[in-house]
Amino acid sequence: MSRSAVWHPFTQHALEPPMKRIASTEGAYLIDEDGNRILDAISSWWVITHGHRHPVIMQAIRSATEACDQIIFAEYSHERAETLARGLIEIAPEGLNHVFYSDSGSTSVEVALKMALGYFHNRGEPRDRIVVMEHSYHGDTIGTMSTGERGVFNAAYKPLLFGVDRLPFPEVGREEKTLDAFETFCRSGQVAALIIEPLVLGAGGMKIYEARVLAGLKEIATRHGCLFIADEVMTGWGRAGTMFACQQAGISPDILCTSKGLTGGALPLAATLCAGDVFDAHLSTDRRKTFFHSSSYTANPIACAAAVANLQIWRSEPVVERIRDLELLHRKNLERFTDDERFANLRQAGTIAALDLVVPAGGYLADVGPRMRRLFRERGLLIRPLGNVLYLMPPYCVTSDELARAYDAIDEVASIVLGKV
Ligand SMILES: *Cc1c(COP(=O)(O)O)cnc(C)c1O
Repeated sequence: MSRSAVWHPFTQHALEPPMKRIASTEGAYLIDEDGNRILDAISSWWVITHGHRHPVIMQAIRSATEACDQIIFAEYSHERAETLARGLIEIAPEGLNHVFYSDSGSTSVEVALKMALGYFHNRGEPRDRIVVMEHSYHGDTIGTMSTGERGVFNAAYKPLLFGVDRLPFPEVGREEKTLDAFETFCRSGQVAALIIEPLVLGAGGMKIYEARVLAGLKEIATRHGCLFIADEVMTGWGRAGTMFACQQAGISPDILCTSKGLTGGALPLAATLCAGDVFDAHLSTDRRKTFFHSSSYTANPIACAAAVANLQIWRSEPVVERIRDLELLHRKNLERFTDDERFANLRQAGTIAALDLVVPAGGYLADVGPRMRRLFRERGLLIRPLGNVLYLMPPYCVTSDELARAYDAIDEVASIVLGKV
């Protein structure tokens, strides 16, 4: 094999072996060029919901390609984007009734931040502070990095990042601190928006907090006229147990970002949903109040067709039952690690389960991460620990045996890296 010209994401090429090439995908598996089947226990970076190459989505993509490719999305619209927008509004929390398309989770968040700032700008109210939660992740563009946790990932870009106000993570029993901090920031009158990952902070280490914190934050935001942005890029589409995680708190955000599972994970697409008053603040005969955002591939019709098919799967297949079953399977499997001194913080939110490996030096760059990754790979499993945080987030088609195999591997690999075998 000749040396690859490809520069991979989040990859230190000086430390990684040449990469195995995946030839095909099927259900919960990646199949490499030698025919080895790798269990995709993290849904290919959290995007695949039902399973790889779901036939309904694949068929929708094929038939869309018979009709169109990219279509400019200003001046013209297309039926698939319209159908999808109506479908999204139907399933989204109440009050979200406008849909702005883009092409990735990061851009959906950039769009949300611009909508929030535009809202106050167009109303002539000078508010420009953004409040975020500690340990958050909202993407890797400059704006989304600014709202995310600072650290080794973005140290080099610090001069370009804008300042935000940070809430402490609502640890169990310390939820009031988070709410109080938000109340204090809001009292300044400068806060335009709070952006938050509802219930689960993903890349920050699968940190899970209670729904009532979300409800409390929403109440404070509403009282101070500050916009509430739910970044549901990871938590949406059943990942945290309900269609959108916000629904567990019974709240409607002013703006909601969705991507990853929007097409069932098959194609890149994103949507930023917003409430009527956010749209209305941009509705004017004054052209300066236009929402100035676009990307070339806005509302790509083939991606929209995949997303419409995804909605159809949610309507016609027992997806909710599959999610509930997976939730129970996680719970049962996690039980074996209760009172196991090798692990701490066993936790679960819907189809996501996580636990921390007890090691002296944690953190993302801890050597145990890459070591475990290699050991999982050798066992035919795709599991990528976040430092010492082990988590499973499989597609919903995963079987009980497949999931048990992933837990067995965690058990075995943990003992190896801790030197206990
Ligand atoms: C993955 C993720 C993003 C970024 O999405 P991309 O499609 O990778 O740009 C944003 N927010 C959250 C919560 C995510 O998990």
